Amino acid sequence: MAYLNDNFFKLKAGYLFPEIARRVKAFTEGNPAAASRLIRCGIGDVTEPLPPAVIAALHQAVEEMASRATFRGYGPEQGYDFLRAAIAQNDYRAYGLDVADDEIFVSDGSKCDCGNILDILGHQNRLAISDPVYPVYVDTNVMAGHTGDADERGAYGGITYLPCTAENGFVPAPPSGKVDLIYLCSPNNPTGAAATRAQLEAWVQYARANEAILLFDAAYESYITEPGIPHSIYEIPGARECAIEFRSFSKSGGFTGTRCAFTVVPKSLVARDGQGEKKPLHPLWLRRTTTKFNGVSYIVQRGAEALYSADGKAQVKSLVEHYLGNARVLVEGAKQAGLKVFGGVNAPYIWVQTPAGITSWQAFDRILNEANVVITPGSGFGSQGEGYFRVSAFNSRANAEEVARRLKALTWS
Ligand SMILES: *Cc1c(COP(=O)(O)O)cnc(C)c1O
Repeated sequence: MAYLNDNFFKLKAGYLFPEIARRVKAFTEGNPAAASRLIRCGIGDVTEPLPPAVIAALHQAVEEMASRATFRGYGPEQGYDFLRAAIAQNDYRAYGLDVADDEIFVSDGSKCDCGNILDILGHQNRLAISDPVYPVYVDTNVMAGHTGDADERGAYGGITYLPCTAENGFVPAPPSGKVDLIYLCSPNNPTGAAATRAQLEAWVQYARANEAILLFDAAYESYITEPGIPHSIYEIPGARECAIEFRSFSKSGGFTGTRCAFTVVPKSLVARDGQGEKKPLHPLWLRRTTTKFNGVSYIVQRGAEALYSADGKAQVKSLVEHYLGNARVLVEGAKQAGLKVFGGVNAPYIWVQTPAGITSWQAFDRILNEANVVITPGSGFGSQGEGYFRVSAFNSRANAEEVARRLKALTWS
């Protein structure tokens, strides 16, 4: 008899996006006329095509694969040198941040990296995860057996939840107790909040004092517009001794379907082995990567490299400006509708308080049925998300404007 990983049965069955899909399907089947009016602002996926600089690089790389002289088979598992160097230079050293080429690990996505990093970390680590949050951090820890069961509110035993509320501007402060692994996401999905330098300094200080590791998800770094908001955790002195940074080309370069991301593991980052001896993480992550992964395709890495060309940078900037322009339209529309709105300034998400004390799912159903717009209920991201919903700015401008109009037309009383 073979056995299953029982931890999977601790996962909450009604995972957010399948439940949204179920309700949308029920709505469109019951209202064929309204189906064509439906606008999706739910799942955080980009809508605009890849930048022309990327397309040109992809074409050229495909041509290279067509001839024996330039064909490539397996590449380095941790990424081609040309891309690691472009990342380290353009995203870090150009800003005075000390990151070496070989501290960059190229992957097929930050989602995978956020989950895979657990391979090299101990099972005894005490976890702290913000609430609400990108569901991947919690669920990968549940699968790995790092939690107890979920209670009736969906909170797992063994996780210190860090409430992100309107009172703390949706950026949690370090806990009073000791934890070992802390997931931070800034700018944040789903709230759109971005941590200030002082807030990140407090986290780095906490991590260093407690020998904890910060797992810093900067997938929305390119959306930061406010001056003074750190783009990288390594802008904070001491972070090289306590932080791993995850970044992705998904939301910056429109790579959600193309797949390319990277993780920064500084060589100066250490944790304790079972004997209590301090050892660096970098060799373990390298070993894990070379053992379990065979690299991102050469073609895609050439496409990602093109994001760092002069044309590529300008095209990324205009893509991001497009989505942030949508966010402004949506923020304005929701405000004019009398709703309380957060986010949308340093992130492509707006985080809206549900009116009149209704729940997140009640708001979802109202907006679906009456405005024919799909949003994401905040409670799906954690219990502190109850009473909010997320509107994604990943859309055409015309759709964002139409959603803003429809939100204004809703009456909530
Ligand atoms: C979209 C997103 C990512 C990127 O995931 P990929 O696997 O690289 O597409 C990472 N973290 C958060 C919070 C995200 O929303």
